[in-house]
Amino acid sequence: SKEKPKNFIYEIIEQDIQTNKWGGRVHTRFPPEPNGYLHIGHAKSICLNYGIARDFNGKFNLRFDDTNPTKEEQEYVDSIIEDVRWLGADFEDRIFYASDYFDQMYEYAVQLIKKGKAYVDDLDPDLMKEYRGTVNEPGKESPFRNRSIEENLELFERMRKGAFKEGEKVLRAKIDMSSPNMLLRDPVMYRILHASHHRTGDKWCIYPTYDWAHGLEDSIEGITHSICTLEFEIHRPLYDWFLEELGIYHPQQIEFARLNLSYTVMSKRKLLELVQSGIVDGWDDPRMPTISGYRRRGYTPEAIWNFAEMIGVAKRDALTDIALLEYSIREDLNKKAQRIMGVLKPLKVVIENYPDDLVEELDAINNPEDHSMGSRKIPFSKEIFIEQTDFMENPPKGFHRLMPAGEVRLRYAYIIKCEKVIKNDKGEVVELRCTYDPDTKSGSGKSEKKIKGTIHWVNVKDAISCEVRLYDRLFTVEDPSADKERDFKEFINPNSLEVIADAKVEPFVKNAKPGDKFQFERIGYFCVDSRYTTKDKLVFNRTVTLKDTWSK
Ligand code: ATP
Ligand code: MG
Ligand code: MG
Repeated sequence: SKEKPKNFIYEIIEQDIQTNKWGGRVHTRFPPEPNGYLHIGHAKSICLNYGIARDFNGKFNLRFDDTNPTKEEQEYVDSIIEDVRWLGADFEDRIFYASDYFDQMYEYAVQLIKKGKAYVDDLDPDLMKEYRGTVNEPGKESPFRNRSIEENLELFERMRKGAFKEGEKVLRAKIDMSSPNMLLRDPVMYRILHASHHRTGDKWCIYPTYDWAHGLEDSIEGITHSICTLEFEIHRPLYDWFLEELGIYHPQQIEFARLNLSYTVMSKRKLLELVQSGIVDGWDDPRMPTISGYRRRGYTPEAIWNFAEMIGVAKRDALTDIALLEYSIREDLNKKAQRIMGVLKPLKVVIENYPDDLVEELDAINNPEDHSMGSRKIPFSKEIFIEQTDFMENPPKGFHRLMPAGEVRLRYAYIIKCEKVIKNDKGEVVELRCTYDPDTKSGSGKSEKKIKGTIHWVNVKDAISCEVRLYDRLFTVEDPSADKERDFKEFINPNSLEVIADAKVEPFVKNAKPGDKFQFERIGYFCVDSRYTTKDKLVFNRTVTLKDTWSK
């Protein structure tokens, strides 16, 4: 079996096992809020949390942190379940909803009120903010802070029953209005929201805040290590305070650095903006950094796992180079993908001395990295397509492909020589007339001729027409969110999608299904699109180029 990763979280857990801190148990969770689709940052968290449970024979929960009815939807719940499953993080039947704990949370709040540790506040929201003070100046206590326990209990119950309007009252923890940690200055536990919840309907009109709810959720589920991103480090005293005051089971919160990727935005709010503004074509647009976008683009779970392991877990935020993610999918597809030949921008070649009616079936290797994948036959005859860019009329020095009177090898076939260039009225090259040398058939061993260039091609008669969608980075700058004064949408790359309407691929792909992955030799990795492919039309997404061709 594989060696365990070495990082500070694994060290903490190993230590805990040695000291028997949790009775030998390890129990993690992934707690998304269903207010958007999951992105690659979430994937990092899933790999970490699930990986820990797997490596220590522990348990892993998928928990929906569905405490805010105004932004959450069933569509998001469904997509999250699909994405977590697809990544292979097996939560079995351990799928939980924070909203199932609303009654229990309410009971806990009543307990804190009875302990004199929580109160109902009527201060209007603007004043409450003002009273909170600033980092440099202590806050002021609300005039409602010292209500009697009885009054608080009664008001809180009336809040729950819908007696008040939104903003009229909140329940606050009574901690310390002069704490240097602003989060401890009597944080809000419940606010009134007359909104329907996607699971609890209209049962509730008070909803718990993140800080109040999160530790309770972890506690109720018996989580041992509650792993979250660094921005929650300053929330930890609050996480601990609630659990200590209640005297209930108390998991340990551990923070790690969130993933930030270059040329990418990752917050769900921004991703939603891209979707709603129509800049991308839905959450699963292959240019989106969402798990569903990557899946549609042709990424594999293995590539994402390898990426997550490569970047590791740190305690300091950084910007990860997106080239690392691309490297990781290239590596995986290099091992797995069926090779085929496909021509993105076809140029017709007529081989004048090739017999008119002959069709040869040539042998082609399916994957040189994996010989168990075998070989296939590809048809070759008098008329073929080559890539427009593989011919140049006036090539620069060092161009080893086809040029007037020049020779090139056709992959798996023969060496051809360009005899004549045919142009249209606009002077564009529309066809080449070539000759071939029958003694140069690949693998025949007959010819000694050495040729520098080898190009791909497709037989005209049985070529399959398809649409190919080429993607580039969605943003033109490394960190589109860096400049807080400017809207991140100003940095959208206007050329992030190029649609090629009529590419030609070899007949092997005839029965390809959505999700099938191929390497188009010399070009890149491509995946059959799951949205636009129909019975009559194949659509390919370019997953990634063969080499890292990006230049800054
Ligand atoms: P966003 O800020 O993108 O909207 P979020 O943190 O609000 O994300 P949640 O649904 O609350 O989204 O996140 C679920 C889990 O995923 C949390 O534990 C969170 O820490 C983790 N997570 C979110 N974004 C990242 C990221 N970029 N890198 C690592 N983990 C992340
Ligand atoms: Mg969150
Ligand atoms: Mg968020």
